[in-house]
Amino acid sequence: MKLAMCSLKNNPAVCVESDARWFNFTEGFAVYQSLRGDDSSPPLASTNDMIARGLLNKAAISEALDALSDAGRLDGCEIAEPSEYLVPIRAGKIVALGRNYAAHAEELGNEIPGEPMLFCKSPSICIADGKDILLRESYGRVDFEGELAFIVGKKATDIRAEDAREYIAGYTLLNDVTERDMQAVAKKKGHPWFRAKNLDTFCPLGPVITLAEDMPWPVHVNIELQVNGETRQQSNTSLFIFDIPTMLAFITRFMTLDPGDIVTTGTPSGVAPIHPGDRIELTVPEIGTLTNSVASISG
Ligand code: ZN
Repeated sequence: MKLAMCSLKNNPAVCVESDARWFNFTEGFAVYQSLRGDDSSPPLASTNDMIARGLLNKAAISEALDALSDAGRLDGCEIAEPSEYLVPIRAGKIVALGRNYAAHAEELGNEIPGEPMLFCKSPSICIADGKDILLRESYGRVDFEGELAFIVGKKATDIRAEDAREYIAGYTLLNDVTERDMQAVAKKKGHPWFRAKNLDTFCPLGPVITLAEDMPWPVHVNIELQVNGETRQQSNTSLFIFDIPTMLAFITRFMTLDPGDIVTTGTPSGVAPIHPGDRIELTVPEIGTLTNSVASISG
């Protein structure tokens, strides 16, 4: 089961894919509420709403879809496969792992870290599937970094690695676009990489969220990134240096993760520069393909 934020007739809506059919779940949930005689709850405006109301899970969504089906109201909520995705969730924070595949650490001449190496990306720079990554003429080398990301489903403080699965609501794709020259200068000076990782539009996210119940556990999935149809990154998340339970336990030992927060798991080897006009496609088969083009702007 997949969830997305989509623009339907210019209005944002939560959309759900179940058994290869897509539904307008914002509309469906309103019908479901009225079927239950509930006219006091506000409408479901976003995936953030769903997470806040404990609905971002397969059981809750299935219950609503089943009730609609039983009442003969499900077909009325069916839509064509969405063509215009929005950012799938507005994260409170995005925690990123650096150097989490040995081959990627080696290609940039970095040591393999002894513990997870973390930085943050600002949720405000996220762009949806189909939107352009914008490069200013003044930027230096800018690289793609295709990554699997997960969405925290409930407040997580000091959690044990063996309990990690129950804290994850779903998975999506994230391109950790990076200005490599700014990063190199920062590294040399011993400064944080914040700017190199947080230029506007440098965080494509989506297109959909695959619910945690529909991902394998442990999460060993193929990940591939193509530029203009040519494969540039190809790996499997079983090659993580630190697996998802380890990263979740490590992070929550010093910082609480809240529902809707995102953790992005690091990029495999093959990073390379992007240029205006490039088309970047990041794929994990269990999720889909995140597609963004690159455009230049002055300044
Ligand atoms: Zn990265």
